Order: sequence, then structure tokens, then C-alpha cells
Amino acid sequence: MTPRPDRAAVWLGILLRQFPELVRELAPSRAARPSPAGRTRSTSPSAPIRLFVSDTLRDITDGVVELEEAVCERLRVPKPPRGSVEQRLTRLIALLDRVGAHPDPSLAEHVRSEARRMARRCSLALGDVETPVRVHGRCLHCDSVSLRVFPHRETVLCVNPGCRCADAQCRCHSDGGHRHAWVRAEWQQLADAVEADPAELTAAQDEPHTEGTAR
Ligand SMILES: [Zn+2]
Ligand SMILES: [Zn+2]
Repeated sequence: MTPRPDRAAVWLGILLRQFPELVRELAPSRAARPSPAGRTRSTSPSAPIRLFVSDTLRDITDGVVELEEAVCERLRVPKPPRGSVEQRLTRLIALLDRVGAHPDPSLAEHVRSEARRMARRCSLALGDVETPVRVHGRCLHCDSVSLRVFPHRETVLCVNPGCRCADAQCRCHSDGGHRHAWVRAEWQQLADAVEADPAELTAAQDEPHTEGTAR
């Protein structure tokens, strides 16, 4: 029995909604617009963040083309015409019933895992471009005034690209694009250590934002 790939539909739907937001993050016109929270955004996200967004855009664009072509080939339907990522995603969603009915369950599995991977990557990149809020105090590892809280991701990052912590196993060592991060559970300890006010971290989270509703 082949499970119906409804989770694939959920993830493809998320991608369809979030991909245009990613494109907007790189658009120069964004610079002049105030953020939904009422603050004016800086002229552009910082360089490593922009790089992450443009990498993600390219990865998802290629991934969606490959996925649609693979699905059409397996379903023996004609090679899809050119189209935007949004058009391709819409066509893929329309093919999901046939994907689920395909005798080989590995096709539905492939669609699910690719859809999930791309949706996660897209959300992660969007999380990275949300307006970071400066945290007072110095980074425990590099002593720079470089701590920022990313409220939606519930993460504090040290944005100094050269910063590495003492733990050789930490991702800030193995992955050049990764910055040392403190997850929510570590915030109290972090705030104590850098003598920041823990309320400063959580206040950013409580800020009203209209993500996904007013835009
Ligand atoms: Zn640091
Ligand atoms: Zn680290």
C-alpha cells in the first residue's frame, strides 16, 4: 500500500508560499520599506546572510525543476514546459494524486523527502533574514559586540564570521556558513554569562509581527 503523499502537499504548499518571500529578501526595493514591526530595515542583510539566501534560492530553483522533471518522467507524462518556481510547484501539487497512485512507493517517498528538504531550507533562510536584534554584552567566545537574537528562530547568534567556540565538535567549526548559536534553552545561562538582561532576548520574541497575515 502506498501512503498518500499529503505531507508532500503540505511542504510544497509551504514552499509555494515562502519562495516569493525569499525572492523579496534579495530584492533591492526592500531597503526602503519599513519592516512590519515599524522599524526601517537596514539597506541589506549582512553579507553572509545574503549569501545564504541566494544559495537557497538557487538550490530550490534547481531542486524544483529536477523534481518536476523526475516526476513527469516516472509518470510518463510529457516533459514539463518551462515555468517559474511557483508555476512548477503548482503543477507538481496537481500531480500528487498520480504520484501517490504510482505502483512504486519510492516515487512518493522521493517527492516527500525533497519537498521537506526544500521547505526546511527555505524556512531556515527566511529565519536568517528576519530582523536580528542586538544583544548587549560581548560574545563569550570572541569577545566582540556581535550577539544578535533572531526571535522567530529562537536563536542567538554571534555574527562575527571568525568566531569559533572551544568545542571542536560544534558546527561553528565544521561548517563555514554556520555561526556559533545559542538555542532558547541556553539563553538564561548566556544572559548570565554576558551580563545581559534575559528580558532583552525574550522581548524581541514578544514583539508583535504580522508574518504571513498582513503581507
Ligand atoms: Zn563570537
Ligand atoms: Zn561553536
